[in-house]
Amino acid sequence: MTLAEISRHCYELAQSYLDLDGSTLDGVINETQNAIRLTRDYFLEDIFTRWSPLDGEISFSYNGGKDCQVLLLLYLGCLWEFFVVQAGKSQYALQFQLFPMHSLPSVFINLDETFPILYRFINESAARYHLELYESCPQCNDGPCDMPSQFRRFLDGPGEGTRAIVIGVRYTDPFGDQLEPIQRTDSNWPDFVRLQPLLHWRLSNVWSFLLYSGEPISELYKVGFTSIGSIEGTTPNPHLLRTKHSGAREKEEGRSPFQWEIDHRYIASATAREEHSEEWLQSLAEQYLPGWYLTDDSLERAGRLKKG
Ligand code: FAD
Ligand code: MG
Ligand code: MG
Repeated sequence: MTLAEISRHCYELAQSYLDLDGSTLDGVINETQNAIRLTRDYFLEDIFTRWSPLDGEISFSYNGGKDCQVLLLLYLGCLWEFFVVQAGKSQYALQFQLFPMHSLPSVFINLDETFPILYRFINESAARYHLELYESCPQCNDGPCDMPSQFRRFLDGPGEGTRAIVIGVRYTDPFGDQLEPIQRTDSNWPDFVRLQPLLHWRLSNVWSFLLYSGEPISELYKVGFTSIGSIEGTTPNPHLLRTKHSGAREKEEGRSPFQWEIDHRYIASATAREEHSEEWLQSLAEQYLPGWYLTDDSLERAGRLKKG
């Protein structure tokens, strides 16, 4: 698929979710539909009207996690809506109906030791979504090695011309409750605008939409991880341990969370591969429930040993 094709796919995916009859389905669907509408309004009315997605003015921060993947699906759908659907209604229809982008400027700061299986997913998904992914040097031989410094290097180098960066942060993340959908960086960061249109999403909204999407997701989420940092600093979420938590077991025996979304997923994606079935994943799958069995935002990071 080209960027135009995957963007159209994401537009139709979001439309399809919005068309679900939220009144007869689980309440989370209705709530997620509202969450999607708000995110879409931010992109179409507040963001694309001030910063052009063309010419590298907007970049996307991507680490393969569930939150930025959800946001990326919506971002791509909004690009299609902005350049094709909306333009198609205007008098300039034909001229603008050509989707004008071939790749999406994006950044991955590879600071901590990343799970190899996640690193593979980042690269595979970057190819699927046509990300032109800048990866910060993992070694940091020259200069300080922290997120702000790595973003400075990006802006001084290939990201020159970037004025705003999309971030998949949510209100329930550490220090997230004071954030705003559009705000400048803090003084100890290089100066640019943070675009944070996913702030209002709860964990349940993320899982409902992501599982419905049928898109390939990081394998780690299938074996009990709910929030992924460095290898050293992350374990599966202890609240999902199959043997210890009878509550979780009961859930498993009853109706699985988000089973409706999984059964009715948008299109059984031809690329949703069952590869990476390494022994390690197998043994974790025996021990842990899938990450989406946990929807208590306050426990999302229980498998994170330290911040990172
Ligand atoms: P996660 O859920 O892991 O990350 C939230 C989102 O941050 C992800 O969806 C992704 O979009 C982005 N992200 C996280 N890690 C990476 C990575 N390694 N590479 C690329 N993207 C990543 N904090 C401040 O205190 N002041 C600031 O001004 C500030 N500006 C920021 C600007 C950008 C572009 C980014 C990405 C982060 C910034 N932060 C800033 C930090 C931010 O608020 C989060 O603390 C940080 O993203 C880490 O998130 P997390 O690991 O807690 O959660
Ligand atoms: Mg997150
Ligand atoms: Mg993180």
